[in-house]
Amino acid sequence: MRDLIERAVSDLRNSRYAVVLTGAGMSTESGIRDFRGPKGIWTTDKAAEAKAYERYELFLRDPASYWEEMLGKKGTHGAFYNELRKAKPNAGHRALSELEELGVMKCVITQNIDGLHPKAGSRNVIEYHGSIRKLRCPSCGSRCGFEEVSLERLPPSCNCGGVLKYDVVHFGEPIPLDVMEKAEKEAMECDLMLICGTSAVVYPFANLPMVAKLGRKSSTTIIEVNAEPTPLTNEGISDYLIQGKTGEILPEIAEEVRKSRPERD
Ligand code: NAD
Repeated sequence: MRDLIERAVSDLRNSRYAVVLTGAGMSTESGIRDFRGPKGIWTTDKAAEAKAYERYELFLRDPASYWEEMLGKKGTHGAFYNELRKAKPNAGHRALSELEELGVMKCVITQNIDGLHPKAGSRNVIEYHGSIRKLRCPSCGSRCGFEEVSLERLPPSCNCGGVLKYDVVHFGEPIPLDVMEKAEKEAMECDLMLICGTSAVVYPFANLPMVAKLGRKSSTTIIEVNAEPTPLTNEGISDYLIQGKTGEILPEIAEEVRKSRPERD
């Protein structure tokens, strides 16, 4: 493990444009359960998985009922969102923010909807599956904060006349084009991709490592930090896996990068 951490530090120090992809495993140490890890919400409750696929369909069919569920007025989903809202960044989130501060990490592309990367201080963050902290209009693509709309009458409407939903991208819902384009541009640009806490099975997000591999760069280093091997490990898409917890490994990497950085004037 020590050897691999040193290798990652050296690879990061030698990179020109490093980006990081993150998934639900990044936030388990903040008390938010992932979906597919050994104690994941879907691993322990198969019905929850089936229900997740109904949410976008409910928004299209009956947006008022969708909003009642999301706000916790009926069903159990609102409670999950309240848990997400209360969570705080962990040492892994802070380490990625430090790597950005050190000029090493250029962009975080996250599947997480919990908003913990911006909360930890990361500035260039692409929230690929949206955020629980915003609303979005699928008709015109605009986003706004909860303080900007009234939820007295459901569903809330956009100024364009469309119906607002959570910014979160539900299963079965297309990824907003602006987000998809930004993420693909970053993946094409990078010469190092760090991938943390994701089972890498949710598409199109899970294509981004291939975009990086086949992008403009002749060789893109792909490093995984995950509790267990993934399809990226098993299919040889990642160059190596540092197996363990992001909240322990990433702070070690950030500390070593900081120590080995040339002193500023
Ligand atoms: P996933 O649940 O499919 O996989 C999580 C992976 O992280 C697993 O391989 C697990 O072994 C690993 N892991 C768990 N804890 C870890 C830790 N401390 N350190 C290192 N690895 C750890 O998650 P996914 O690939 O992100 O896909 C799930 C989807 O669900 C995503 O679209 C995501 O948006 C959503 N989701 C988000 C949150 C959140 O915002 N926090 C929580 C649950 C699910």
